[in-house]
Amino acid sequence: MNTTTKFDTIVVGTGPGGSSVASSLTRKGQKVLMLEWGNDTPFDGSKAGALGIIGTPGKNYTITSEGMIVGKGTTVGGSTSIFCASAYPPPLTMFKKYGVDLQAELDETRKELPIGKLKSELVGPHAKIIADSAKKLGHNWDQLDKFIYQDKCRLGCFMCFTGCPHGAKWTARNYAHDAVANGATLITHAKVLEIIIENNTAQGVKYSHHGSIETAHAKNIIIAAGGLGTPVLLRKAGIKEAGKNFFVDPMVLAFGLIDQLPGGGEVPMTGGMHLAEDGIMLSDLPLYPLVYRLLAMQKLHFKNAFNHKQAAGIMVKAKDDLSGEVTDRGGVHKTLTEKDHWRLNTGYDLAKNILEKAGAKNIFKTMIIAGHPGGTAKIGDVVDTNLMTRFNNLYVSDCSVIPEAWGLPPSLTLITLGKRLAKHLDSKAV
Ligand SMILES: Cc1cc2nc3c(=O)[nH]c(=O)nc-3n(C[C@H](O)[C@H](O)[C@H](O)COP(=O)(O)OP(=O)(O)OC[C@H]3O[C@@H](n4cnc5c(N)ncnc54)[C@H](O)[C@@H]3O)c2cc1C
Repeated sequence: MNTTTKFDTIVVGTGPGGSSVASSLTRKGQKVLMLEWGNDTPFDGSKAGALGIIGTPGKNYTITSEGMIVGKGTTVGGSTSIFCASAYPPPLTMFKKYGVDLQAELDETRKELPIGKLKSELVGPHAKIIADSAKKLGHNWDQLDKFIYQDKCRLGCFMCFTGCPHGAKWTARNYAHDAVANGATLITHAKVLEIIIENNTAQGVKYSHHGSIETAHAKNIIIAAGGLGTPVLLRKAGIKEAGKNFFVDPMVLAFGLIDQLPGGGEVPMTGGMHLAEDGIMLSDLPLYPLVYRLLAMQKLHFKNAFNHKQAAGIMVKAKDDLSGEVTDRGGVHKTLTEKDHWRLNTGYDLAKNILEKAGAKNIFKTMIIAGHPGGTAKIGDVVDTNLMTRFNNLYVSDCSVIPEAWGLPPSLTLITLGKRLAKHLDSKAV
């Protein structure tokens, strides 16, 4: 990298928060540098590709000091590379309370991305059986919006988690590649180590790249390293209030065996229900065979483990209380509260009833895992309504900025926040 090149904006991390702002800025003519810790190798369903993205502890998942596994995708596209592609709308009223109106950006995103409920031909037998059972029990179980190019999607496929071989699943990689097509520079295997602060201003970043330490400079720097990566960089820059009292959206999965399931794959999270007041969300979750087997064996449910074809799953996600700390070195401490356990247990009881009504046997609950860490640099606390930190050219655009406990799929919200930040930076440049 030519260290003398000065960019308009450096974006650290290419998840939905980072790549949305990068793509929007390049469309406005800005000279953007994206630095991404992970690779950009094709993620198209091959086992080798999947292992490179989800196989390394520390990089691809974090284990909290309390033993909870928090999954993350360290690659171009961030965790959307392995996400279930659910496009849950941002809670507009909640953001408005903080002076952040996301309506215009939501409308733009809906026009730009393939967001919608699956057409009936793509709703698989697993999703149908669970939806029918939930409805018979009187639940408001509805289809969820998905980020999927439906003309390319195939029923009978389990590859949403390991890279879509048909190019049907939209991921934030698409935005990162858009940005490159519009002139941005993308450097992969570039782990940002610190933000260079001089004269109370962010001057650039220092990053490691294939064993050497490089620097890059820009007028504005956006940290988008995810809910657990961003606070480490902020704390190193002296913003010590980052990384405190955050959420992880813990979840348990309920699995049982249903004889009439034919096996074969389908899109996860086709439908679900949200009990907003209780902070519980349920959705169907047919799981990739290897991950399912590991989770069943971890709980010693060998009969289930070796019967993936008949496995029916429901994910129970909780809105956990804000607590915990990310340390200067990236260690994660997070103890779930009694209320959090109540949400997970209540959700599991609901899921178990739905599975039983669907005729499932051998129902069990997995260990608690998590996939949406955030709230580590909250709006109104660490960043202002323009996502700016106390340094007037250092911003955050990722799950860290969510100001309250969460419990929802966040990607669509992060895209709208990224687009809004790009508008702010563009107006500042004039
Ligand atoms: C299995 C799973 C399923 C999910 N399903 C859904 C779903 O259906 N719908 C939904 O909305 N959400 C889902 N999520 C959650 C969603 O993917 C994440 O919440 C979202 O991707 C977070 O976006 P982000 O921009 O905050 O960070 P991330 O997506 O985590 O991106 C951060 C990026 O920064 C990079 N990075 C980190 N540190 C550095 C550094 N120091 N230097 C350079 N780069 C760095 C990382 O490699 C990564 O690419 C799922 C998550 C998981 C794990």
